[in-house]
Amino acid sequence: GTDAVDRLAIRLGIAKPPPAVRALDAVDLEVRKGEVVGLVGESGCGKSTLGRVIAGMLPPTGGRVEHHGQDIAGLKGKAARDMRLATQIIFQDPMSSLNPRKRVREIIAEAPRVHGLASRAEARRLVEELLGRVGLDPAMADRYPHQFSGGQRQRIGIARALAVNPDFLICDESIAALDVSIQAQVINLFMELRQELGLTLLFISHDLSVVRHISDRVVIMYLGRVVEEAATDAIFDAPRHPYTEALLQEIPRLDRRARAFAPVKGEIPSPVNPPSGCHFHPRCPFAMEICKTTRPPLIDVAAGHRAACHLNGGMGRLPSDIASDTR
Ligand code: SF4
Ligand code: MG
Repeated sequence: GTDAVDRLAIRLGIAKPPPAVRALDAVDLEVRKGEVVGLVGESGCGKSTLGRVIAGMLPPTGGRVEHHGQDIAGLKGKAARDMRLATQIIFQDPMSSLNPRKRVREIIAEAPRVHGLASRAEARRLVEELLGRVGLDPAMADRYPHQFSGGQRQRIGIARALAVNPDFLICDESIAALDVSIQAQVINLFMELRQELGLTLLFISHDLSVVRHISDRVVIMYLGRVVEEAATDAIFDAPRHPYTEALLQEIPRLDRRARAFAPVKGEIPSPVNPPSGCHFHPRCPFAMEICKTTRPPLIDVAAGHRAACHLNGGMGRLPSDIASDTR
């Protein structure tokens, strides 16, 4: 019903892999309004492609993207523009997306000016307000991007995204290039912005530990498919997919229980020509015959928790069961 749609920021349904989006398989994803979802997977798994499809930068051929309940492909004119502005992507490397010949003031004011959202005087005030909001001194507005540190440049990129008043931010590896201490500061900034502005966030990362502190829910992708999806605590405390287990093992944590199996080894197979059946079977320590031939469906394994692994269908035993035996 309408109520359910109103609570959704994004609903993405891709029925089959469209030719333009080879790295992406059938994906069904929902992000609720005000929610922070972490989208995690190794590079090449299709998570950046997914971000671009959601933002309307790539066509969702073979499926649809709904933003606030509306199919974005059907939007025209002002409605299409408003949708594009309402969803902003923040990329990994702000240096490549910030024009080096423009002052920060011009960079941040550009989109609101181009789209007629602010007069010259309003844009001036907006720049100063936004710099303050992202933790930069408004007096720095007349400097150029190279005069800032990497972390400061990422803050400028965030201010630029906020300048068009979006309600949905896609952060694509937005902090991956930063030092760990700076990463924590930028994560804190995202959390503050979420609180203050009521933003919905899709936080794309290859690093599960990065999304942990910011996400309400985590979606794990492997070679173009969603393999597990659950509330953040459930992903960390009761994972139901061996790939998620493998990602968790890569996180050094003193309080983590000893894992009952060795970390996953081996190259990531090509997303263009993925392994048959369960894409993960060549690297999975639990692979069975059925895994080579039959794709495991993404099924409900607990309330709000979905996983795509034959172990959840009553065959074999889940890694978490084995771990609790050996505790
Ligand atoms: Fe491993 Fe089979 Fe589960 Fe795939 S379906 S993750 S190969 S046990
Ligand atoms: Mg990427």
